[in-house]
Amino acid sequence: MIVVFLGPPGSGKGTQARELSQKTGLLHISTGDLLREAVKKGTELGKRAKEYMDRGELVPDGLMVAMIEEVMPPEGGFILDGFPRTVAQALALEEMLQRHGKELSKVVLFEIQEEDVVQRLSGRLTCSNCGAVYHKVYNPPKREGTCDLCGGKLFQREDDREEVARKRFRVYQEQTQPLVEFYKRRNKLISLNARENHRLVSQKLLEVLKDGG
Ligand SMILES: [Zn+2]
Repeated sequence: MIVVFLGPPGSGKGTQARELSQKTGLLHISTGDLLREAVKKGTELGKRAKEYMDRGELVPDGLMVAMIEEVMPPEGGFILDGFPRTVAQALALEEMLQRHGKELSKVVLFEIQEEDVVQRLSGRLTCSNCGAVYHKVYNPPKREGTCDLCGGKLFQREDDREEVARKRFRVYQEQTQPLVEFYKRRNKLISLNARENHRLVSQKLLEVLKDGG
């Protein structure tokens, strides 16, 4: 089974992908992490990607697909998290999978409204020392402003500020809407209400993936 997770920052799709991977053994390929790793390790593809990043340019779709190709398991399935985001990327991915005699099984869309995302993200606090993440309302630290795990100081990431969160959401929507239509036409799309609580979403996720095979 090859599954794509689609959803805005703050929809919880990354966490769900990690959990699903643990439960099912599907490999979780987070393209953000994949890119960072490749650059850090200085792999051939990582070096090429870095050249673009150093110039402040986007890493080309073909290069991202090549990185996925490099890590995807020859047998067995995987979850793609963070890619594709555009129709062009979806086509590049499709072509690569075809070359390996593979096909995308399902695309799960984590649906959530702008207000919900902003509320989630703008309440998020990150530990400056160990990177642990808290939430002012849903998951507050025991002592205000202090990390439970390491005693580090908590701060709000630039990305999580309200204006930035709104902007990211709108960029996501604009980019992804055509992609949603694209996968709908191919009968691959499953929508999940990502506003519901974490456990319910992960239950539903297992159900819909079982149904769809
Ligand atoms: Zn900490």
